[in-house]
Amino acid sequence: MTRAVARIEVGAVERNCARLAVELGGESELCAVVKADGYGHGAEACAEAALAGGATRLAVATGAEAGRIGRRFPQVPLLTMGALTPEDLEDALAAGSEVAVWRDGFRDFLSARGRAQGRPVRVHVKHDSGMGRLGNPDPGEVLALARACAEDPQLDLAGVWTHFATADEPGSDFFDVQLERFTAVAAAIKAEFPGTIAHAANSAAVFRDRRSHFDMARCGIAVYGLDPFQGDPAERGLRPALSLRSYVADVKRFAAGESAGYGRTWRAPADTWVGVLPLGYGDGVRRGLSNDAEILIRGRRHPLVGTVSMDNVTVDLGPETEVEPGDEAVLIGEQGGETIRAEELARRLGTINYEVTCGISARVPRESA
Ligand SMILES: *Cc1c(COP(=O)(O)O)cnc(C)c1O
Repeated sequence: MTRAVARIEVGAVERNCARLAVELGGESELCAVVKADGYGHGAEACAEAALAGGATRLAVATGAEAGRIGRRFPQVPLLTMGALTPEDLEDALAAGSEVAVWRDGFRDFLSARGRAQGRPVRVHVKHDSGMGRLGNPDPGEVLALARACAEDPQLDLAGVWTHFATADEPGSDFFDVQLERFTAVAAAIKAEFPGTIAHAANSAAVFRDRRSHFDMARCGIAVYGLDPFQGDPAERGLRPALSLRSYVADVKRFAAGESAGYGRTWRAPADTWVGVLPLGYGDGVRRGLSNDAEILIRGRRHPLVGTVSMDNVTVDLGPETEVEPGDEAVLIGEQGGETIRAEELARRLGTINYEVTCGISARVPRESA
């Protein structure tokens, strides 16, 4: 019995990466994105499984994440994708990470850091082909920046890259607009600097369009077996790695009209049994699921009833029940042939599977299985 645990099937992460490697056809490297503690799954264990499954590189978003991952996997090329304060940069460089650059001022700063550490900083020049966030939108300036990096002995030009805004929207024409813009930028830079790698694809793009694969793909969500298109991961040969489990701490009889939880938002419509699980929004079970989720106990779905509290949720077990205190409860994952996917919770919450697993709080231990 565990109060609440996120169990991670590392074998699934490994197989998902093998599946992505097949999709990439051996011509493009797989970079496993393990930012945000591996999308809530535990970064170190997932990185190890991803590398076993065929990933050859790792990526994170922040300097602190680079510190953790770079120290654990010193032999694996690591890219820190996000914007870095001078302090973040120290963490990233100390961990041996490659970093993103798109502004001249930051390039100068990196050059000074390269001189100070007596070793060139490896940089990936970022083109904003339409995401409208980080990166330089001007193709000429991106080329000029790449030249400046290549000519600077304190810098190594490692890559040129971009990020798609609508890869997960099958009907979007804008994906093709971005792909066309980046293809031209990457071709110009690689013509002058053939050792440079080009990369653009996230998980959705890998499945969507081979032309987006270039030399490397940066995959996150699919590594964890979650569907980038918010559908059924099995349809793309992916298997979810995470399950969120708790147990039934109490079972009690409710007479018709009695209520469970804060605000009395649910009242028993008839005499029934109610189960209490000792986890709540303090664990990342979002309050938006109040009276709008199902939980597996003894292989059957039971409605979550009442308001999700910080430390408890309540479940309607029905007028007759076999459920007993101590029974396992599954909020995400499989039990007895029934499955509740992160995509289902995301739909109920009006969000995406990414946010569901990232939202599982630090109070929930991650356990590799
Ligand atoms: C998070 C991230 C990825 C991974 O995206 P998925 O959709 O999870 O595959 C790739 N590139 C960048 C820049 C990212 O921030």
